[in-house]
Amino acid sequence: MTTRRFDSKAAIVTGGARGIGFATALRLAKEGASVAVFDLDSEAASSAAKAIAEETDARVIGLPCDVSDATATESAVEQVVTELGGIHVLVNNAGVTRDNLLHKMSEQDWDIVLGVHLRGAFLMARAVQAHFVAQKYGKIISLSSASALGNRGQANYSAAKMGIQGLTRTLAIELGPFGVNVNAVAPGFVATEMTDATAARLNMAVEDFRSLAADQNPVRRVGLPEDIAAAVAFLASDESSYVTGQTLYVDGGATLG
Ligand code: NAD
Repeated sequence: MTTRRFDSKAAIVTGGARGIGFATALRLAKEGASVAVFDLDSEAASSAAKAIAEETDARVIGLPCDVSDATATESAVEQVVTELGGIHVLVNNAGVTRDNLLHKMSEQDWDIVLGVHLRGAFLMARAVQAHFVAQKYGKIISLSSASALGNRGQANYSAAKMGIQGLTRTLAIELGPFGVNVNAVAPGFVATEMTDATAARLNMAVEDFRSLAADQNPVRRVGLPEDIAAAVAFLASDESSYVTGQTLYVDGGATLG
């Protein structure tokens, strides 16, 4: 049998029950990884894990874990180490939006978004780091966004997503000497329930919203979860072992100007 990129590796994908996280968990599993799907809802995490296991020969588990909760992240990571026999790859993908213009943005809108994306990525990285350092091997990939560069109505989200880029660079410096690569992927518009919800908020049909987004980048299509999963898989693999501290924009060229 040919070897696959993630044979004998275990990966956690946060927010893996649907969208980009689900596609990423599936991709890693197809390439040999044992995968733990973390999501808010135990039911959603388990059914995603079951769907991935049915499509692959991988060991896949689904665990409830709110990434903004320190105790929950620590105990869920320990459960993964016990059940999957270790941990080698962390994908910080869990995300929410609470879009509003500044004068209408509540402190709660700010705290929730910063809490899930930025505090969540910090807590998850902290929870895996002892394992990664001890085995002198680990990959951390966090989802940033093209919105990090600025996007009307997304002060909270943009700050969190640019924060992830700073966190990524700093963790790359701190953990590089211990065999740990830390990178980010910054998607442009990707067709998922997150962007469908934005369309609904703007009173637009999903197809119209997607075609508007497609017109705004050079490749003239929207991104698919699989486009992002492919980039994450590259950064999670040993093919990118000389790449660290970077943010890879996967946006069909939307941010080229
Ligand atoms: P999605 O809304 O379809 O899925 C997000 C998942 O995260 C859901 O399953 C949700 O339950 C889970 N989640 C939310 N809060 C959580 C928490 N506290 N703990 C654990 N899980 C939690 O979103 P998506 O479009 O697949 O986006 C995935 C990631 O990619 C997010 O970080 C998002 O910000 C980023 N991103 C998405 C796009 C896009 O266009 N869809 C663009 C750029 C970046």
